[in-house]
Amino acid sequence: MSPSAVVNKRAVVVEPETTGHKNVKTKSVLLHRHIHYEPSTVVAAKGNYVELNSGQKILDATGGAAVSCLGHGNQRVKEAINRQLDQVAYCASLFFGSSAGEALAKELVDGTNGQMARAYIVCSGSEAMEATMKLARQYFLECAPAQPERVNFIARKESYHGTTLGGLSMSGHVGRRALFEPMLLGNVSRVSACNAYRGMKEGESTKEYVARLAQELDDEFVRLGPQTVCAFVAEPVVGAALGCVPAVPGYFQAMKAVCDKYGALLVFDEVMSGMGRSGTLHAWEQEGVVPDIETIGKGLGGGYAAVAGLLIGHRVIHVLDKGTGAFSHGHTYQGHPVACAAALEVQRIVREEGLVENARRMGEVLEKQLKERLSSHPNVGDIRGRGLFWGIELVRDKATKEPFDPKDGIAMALHEKGLEPKHSISLYPGTGTVDGKSGDHIMLAPAYNTTEADITLIVDRTTAAIEDFFAQRS
Ligand code: PLP
Repeated sequence: MSPSAVVNKRAVVVEPETTGHKNVKTKSVLLHRHIHYEPSTVVAAKGNYVELNSGQKILDATGGAAVSCLGHGNQRVKEAINRQLDQVAYCASLFFGSSAGEALAKELVDGTNGQMARAYIVCSGSEAMEATMKLARQYFLECAPAQPERVNFIARKESYHGTTLGGLSMSGHVGRRALFEPMLLGNVSRVSACNAYRGMKEGESTKEYVARLAQELDDEFVRLGPQTVCAFVAEPVVGAALGCVPAVPGYFQAMKAVCDKYGALLVFDEVMSGMGRSGTLHAWEQEGVVPDIETIGKGLGGGYAAVAGLLIGHRVIHVLDKGTGAFSHGHTYQGHPVACAAALEVQRIVREEGLVENARRMGEVLEKQLKERLSSHPNVGDIRGRGLFWGIELVRDKATKEPFDPKDGIAMALHEKGLEPKHSISLYPGTGTVDGKSGDHIMLAPAYNTTEADITLIVDRTTAAIEDFFAQRS
C-alpha cells in the first residue's frame, strides 16, 4: 500500500494550535506554519500582555504555549542571561561542564526531595522525549543480566509527546501523526488515557474505572510479551491532546503497580504539566507516585530560553553507573550555559517568591470563577484542570457530549474570536484527537504570579469570547 493510501484511510485533522492569526497574504520569508499567511508580529511583551504591531494589547492567558510561568519581561532573568553571556555563552558539553548547568541540575534535583538522581538538559520537550526513549533502552541493555528484548513502549491514545519522529511515534494525537504515519516507529502501542468526562461508563465508580484501565494496561503488557516492554509513558495531566485532563485518584498508583509487576519503567511526560504548572512543582507529587524518568520543558525556562530536560531516577542512574557509565546520546547545544542560566533564575524566582503555592491558590480561584460563569453554557461540556492549567471542552450537545466535527475547527475559530480587539485574549485551542471522538477544547495557562484581579479579567474575557462566538454561530 502506498503511503498516501495509508494516510487517506484516516481523517486528517489539521491541528491548528500555533496559528490563529488573520489570514493576510505574506511576503515573509520566515516559514511559520502556513506558506501563504503570516501571524501578526509581537513587538513587545510585558507581564501578562503581548503587544502586536497594530498596537493591540493581548491578554496572554495561555503563557504562549503554557510556557511563560513568570509572565513576560522579567528583569532578574534578563540580568542572569546577560551575566552568563559575559561569562561564557557556549561550551561543548561533550568536553566541558558549565557552572550554570551544574547549578541548574542541583536546583532541579533538590526540588525532588531526593527522589531523582540526575538532570539532563536539552533544548525542547521533543528532544527530552527522544532522550528518554534511548535512555530507557540503554537502561535495560545495562541491567544485569541485560534485557535486550525490551524494545517496546506503551503510551496512551490521547497524548502528545513531541514533534520529532520519536516523540510523534509516542504520541497518540491523530491529527499530528496523520501525514507521517508510515514513517513512525512500530514499537509504540497505546492504551486509553484516564479521562473521567469521556472514559467513565455510566454508573461506574472511580475504583472500577481505575481497575478497568489497569487491566487494559496489563493486557497490553501480556499481548506484547511483558519482557519486551521498556516503559509505560504518560502525561500526568494531558495537555494538547485533550485539554488539561488530570487522572482520577488512584489511577497512576494502579498503573505503576502494573509496571512494577512486569519490571518496566514508568515515564512521566511533564513537559507541559510540570515545573509548577499543575500547582505542585511536579505533577506526580499529587499522585503519590514517583516516575523513573520525568521529562520537563515549558515552565522550566518560562520562555526566556529554549530549554527542556530529563529528571532521572536512582534506579536508572544506578544501572548506568554500574554499566558503561555514560548515556550514549548527545546534542551540540545540550546543557547550553545561557539556557541553563535563564532556567536557573526562573526556578529560583519560582521558589523564592512562593509561586507554586500562588499557582495552586490562584488555580482554585480560576476553577471557581470558570465553573460559575461557564458551567451552564450549552456548548461547554467539561471544565477540568489543576493548578493554573485549565481546559474547557466544547461540545455540540451537552446532554450527549457529542463533539463538534473536527473539520469545523471550532477551537481554532474561538481562538481567533479571542484575538478580536473587543476581547483581546489569547486562548490555546485544540481539536479532537482520537478519531474525532474527543471534543474541541481551549486551554488556559496563565503565569504563576497572576493575581486574583488578573484571573477575574481572564475569566471575564474568556466568557465573553465564548458567548460571543456561539451566539454568532446560532
Ligand atoms: N510533551 C508534551 C506533554 C508537550 O505538551 C509538548 C509540547 O507541547 C512536548 C512534549 C514537545 O515539546 P516541544 O514542543 O518543546 O518539542
